[in-house]
Amino acid sequence: MALQKDEALVLTKLSYGESDKIIRLFTLMNGKLSAIAKGGSKSLKRFMNTLEPFNHIRIEYFKKQNKALAMIENADLIESNTGIEKSLKSFCTASFFAEFTDRLTKEGEKNKELFEILKYIFLNVRDSNFGSSYIVIHLLNILKVTGFMPNFKSCVYCGKEVPDVEKVFFSKEKGGILCKACSLSLSYKTYPVGVIAGLSSYEKKENSLLDHASLGYIQDIMEDFIAFHLDIKLKSYKLLKRLM
Ligand SMILES: [Zn+2]
Repeated sequence: MALQKDEALVLTKLSYGESDKIIRLFTLMNGKLSAIAKGGSKSLKRFMNTLEPFNHIRIEYFKKQNKALAMIENADLIESNTGIEKSLKSFCTASFFAEFTDRLTKEGEKNKELFEILKYIFLNVRDSNFGSSYIVIHLLNILKVTGFMPNFKSCVYCGKEVPDVEKVFFSKEKGGILCKACSLSLSYKTYPVGVIAGLSSYEKKENSLLDHASLGYIQDIMEDFIAFHLDIKLKSYKLLKRLM
């Protein structure tokens, strides 16, 4: 059992027993990792404050193949993101993205792009006010790099390319848009012309700002899709939405 070294972002921290903590991490080299930090011994107490949610840290750990939890040996800070909790909106935004990442990924699946997005979010949420359009953009970015992006280009039922002006039917069940013909026999929601076309062009232009007038509709599409298709009902999202 070799000592592993990695970089990680702390997603959550739970108390376990009298002084132990169970930490959920998203690591650079090994994706999601659940670990235990034993707080009982004096030598380990010193890094307990490092293992706070949203921190960017360096860790050393042991993991036995048949064990669910890794054992943290050492941890030190790369970037402290304490301060996020001072603003309720920042805290909810960071919590939402931590929960979203946790729910969307499996243990041990490396995803460097996702790590970078999450690192960026935690850092920026600490230093500035993250607006609703940024939240939606990063939500889309995460869906893209995890392979869960809905299909905004062609009909998800028959595969036909749909021209931009006809991109108005979105099926949360099928996970994408429908052409006019398929819309006759399937359930969907209708959106104004331009909303879905905006989303499909967003995929091409990286990190472009979304049209502000469409934002409410886009949020509606994403919420329906995430709740139904990924079977995720995020606690943190409800609170965040009230604040947005
Ligand atoms: Zn079709």
